[in-house]
Amino acid sequence: MRLVLLGPPGSGKGTQATRLKVELGVPHISTGDMLRAAVAAGTPTGLKAKAVMDAGQLVSDDILLAMLEERLSQDDVKGGFILDGYPRNLAQADALDHLLAKIGQPLDAVVKLDVPNEAIIARCEIRFAAEHRKDDDPAVVRDRLKVYAEQTAPVAEFFARRGKLQVVDGVGELNEVTARIKRALSAESAAANG
Ligand code: ADP
Repeated sequence: MRLVLLGPPGSGKGTQATRLKVELGVPHISTGDMLRAAVAAGTPTGLKAKAVMDAGQLVSDDILLAMLEERLSQDDVKGGFILDGYPRNLAQADALDHLLAKIGQPLDAVVKLDVPNEAIIARCEIRFAAEHRKDDDPAVVRDRLKVYAEQTAPVAEFFARRGKLQVVDGVGELNEVTARIKRALSAESAAANG
């Protein structure tokens, strides 16, 4: 299963991906986690990315593509993956398309988690208090929501036009949201096989 999880910041992509990877038996690739690891390790990528991330803006497409290309060339993704945090704009959606075509591994499904902005702001406040991620500061969250609306929302339309997008309600119990995603995925694979 090659799956992309879309959704605004704080919509629960990371939490759901962590659960789904166990059930689907494929690795979870989070570009946000990869970037934070690069920042923590002080790599050249991390040094370039830090200020951009703290401000809630998007790190350059070149950096992301290089990172993703390297990750997708590793052996553990041969059986599939859950991609979380990419693509975040139309250029990245195009780049992903080309990259997956090149390695002969097209996407099986794209699931978007739908969560209203008020719920996102509340969730990020809780995460800010717990984890102190600079980009969860309420002022930065507002900027991230703007970046999402302007740059990432068109990515959902891009996949919808290809008949690939499943929209799942991301509000509710964690187990319930996981169950909704699994239902969307089995509907998708039934449609693909029949
Ligand atoms: P969340 O899931 O809360 O939106 P992430 O952990 O996915 O946050 O991402 C944190 C930050 O990392 C983003 O705000 C952005 O600066 C950077 N980032 C992650 N993925 C990408 C990407 N595909 N393109 C550009 N920047 C990215």
